[in-house]
Amino acid sequence: MLPCAAAASGATGARVGIMGGTFDPIHIGHLACAEQVRAACALDIVLFVPAGDPWMKRGRDLAPAADRFAMVDAAVDDNPFFAASALEIDRRGATYTVDTLRELSGCCPDGTELFFIAGVDAVAALPLWREADRLGSLATIAVVTRPGYDTSDGRLDAARRLVGADRMVDVPIVGIDLSSTDVRAMVRAGRSIRYLVPREVADYIEKRGLYRA
Ligand code: ATP
Ligand code: MG
Repeated sequence: MLPCAAAASGATGARVGIMGGTFDPIHIGHLACAEQVRAACALDIVLFVPAGDPWMKRGRDLAPAADRFAMVDAAVDDNPFFAASALEIDRRGATYTVDTLRELSGCCPDGTELFFIAGVDAVAALPLWREADRLGSLATIAVVTRPGYDTSDGRLDAARRLVGADRMVDVPIVGIDLSSTDVRAMVRAGRSIRYLVPREVADYIEKRGLYRA
């Protein structure tokens, strides 16, 4: 992997999407969301960046970062517009999006535009993120709906005010009502996850015995 995978997209003026997440495991909701935002925002590349140490999920057992990364890497392999980045895993310590965006904007050619892709559930918590008021200066936040999440409580508006209304865009997508929590629960219950995750991811989970206990 290049030190800055985004540079792989090449030219000055590239539009680079960043899909952050725990990806424990990656599923078709993540992939379909990223693909629809890529097309809607005319992105040249979408980087999938698994969090090394997602501080908001402390206290919960996570699959090892190496496994989460391997599954993301396998899942994006067949899409030339997608790439996996180990940037947040390699950084060590608690994972903060602001650090990731700074690192990427520092290594991308001048004129590169960053788009941070996030579901409404993630954006609702954005005001709690480190240096949340700096995010808008580093990237456009591309917000996608997520079936089943109530967005009427004003938290999205608070995030929008913090980031800057013109730095947040709502991208309509066909929603898929699926979470990694659902996938883990299905594996634990011995149910089939075929078609809910790419075949390579299902095979990896099976081979490594993830999420069984
Ligand atoms: P978990 O249930 O473990 O929290 P998750 O499915 O929410 O997993 P995350 O890794 O937490 O996945 O989410 C990463 C990003 O992907 C977040 O911005 C989240 O909103 C978004 N996302 C996850 N699933 C979907 C989905 N089905 N549709 C749209 N966005 C999604
Ligand atoms: Mg989540």
